[in-house]
Amino acid sequence: MNEQVLKSKFLGALVGTGVGDSLGAPFEGCREVKLEEIEAIAERQEVLTYTDDTHMMIGVAESLIRNRGFDGEDMAHTFIKNYELEPFRGYGPGPPRIFRLIRAGAAWDEVAQGLYHSGSYGNGSAMRIAPIGVFYHDNPAMLREVAYKSSQITHAHQLGKEGAALQAYAIALVTNLEPGLAFDRGDFLAKLLSYVTDGVYQEKLNRIEALLSQPDGGRVIIELGNGIEAFNSVPTAIYCFLSQPHSFAQAILYAIRLGGDTDTIGAMTGAISGAYLGFESIPSRWKNKLENRLYIKELAKKLSHPTPTMG
Ligand SMILES: [Mg+2]
Repeated sequence: MNEQVLKSKFLGALVGTGVGDSLGAPFEGCREVKLEEIEAIAERQEVLTYTDDTHMMIGVAESLIRNRGFDGEDMAHTFIKNYELEPFRGYGPGPPRIFRLIRAGAAWDEVAQGLYHSGSYGNGSAMRIAPIGVFYHDNPAMLREVAYKSSQITHAHQLGKEGAALQAYAIALVTNLEPGLAFDRGDFLAKLLSYVTDGVYQEKLNRIEALLSQPDGGRVIIELGNGIEAFNSVPTAIYCFLSQPHSFAQAILYAIRLGGDTDTIGAMTGAISGAYLGFESIPSRWKNKLENRLYIKELAKKLSHPTPTMG
């Protein structure tokens, strides 16, 4: 793949996260969302403001770039620094508690384990994973290791880590695909299925093909979910991408219309779709209004240069 195409995919994954997050944010928790409403609200806003999803995705990218690979201690402290500067991004209750403990000296890879008995299985580590997905796109083993370790900072439950790895792998797979060539849905799903190790995710991925052949938003919500748990949102984002693989706009709008955790499912759908179709596929009416877009683009460009190492 030529360098320009690959760079566009890095940009697409990161900016796609921000666009999906900010478009979905006004509808978080809604049951059903009307298409016209999504477009109307986006049009009214001068700036598309992102939430914790993109804020933490930025932290992941900053840390990967600084260390030319994963460094857990540094990533944790990058999250903390960013959170302290902008605590208003809509963070859930878990991360700030973890940040305080790490700030007080606790180990970055031990604190989250103690939260909610055996760690959180929320989608908080999958929502921010785009930089890891593109950075390690050609190394699935390293991708899993880094997805798990980056998740361990805040979401230590196996289902949380596995959700992050699945989302990262979906991004990696499409990063490796030429956007102009025919897309093989069955092959893509089969690769995801053989990558995940947990039955909960395997079961959900197995339902996607049938849901795609008879599109019904209600069934998607019932069978795949639209909630804050990683297993109730990562397969959903994968579904949303697959329902409209050749249109970033349609995939995102579909994701937000499902309601529920709209910012995060929007962010994750945007990351996959953007990584597949590239930066150019993201409508200008949205990307030109994304908050901090120049900085996010700068991060994507820097990320597309260095050679991955573990740090
Ligand atoms: Mg959010």
